[in-house]
Amino acid sequence: MADRGGGDRKGLSEPRPLGLTCPGCGEPWLRPSTLPGRYRCVNCLHRFELRSVCPDCGEHSTIVRMSSTATTVCNHCGGSMLVEV
Ligand SMILES: [Zn+2]
Ligand SMILES: [Zn+2]
Repeated sequence: MADRGGGDRKGLSEPRPLGLTCPGCGEPWLRPSTLPGRYRCVNCLHRFELRSVCPDCGEHSTIVRMSSTATTVCNHCGGSMLVEV
């Protein structure tokens, strides 16, 4: 184990600099809010909720809420699971 004690990446291990794509404005500025399952677009300032049931086809989806890389697309119809609140 080579621990060099650099600490150059402290806590910032985002794989992508951009967040989820906002269904409102289409820009990748959707960020998780403080509430679980809630997202807020920092571009258009709209707020969205990640539903466990697809608003398009009604299919249940197993949502894995992992910070900014959560799946927001229905794996049944391909629609967005995000609903504006
Ligand atoms: Zn937006
Ligand atoms: Zn669907």
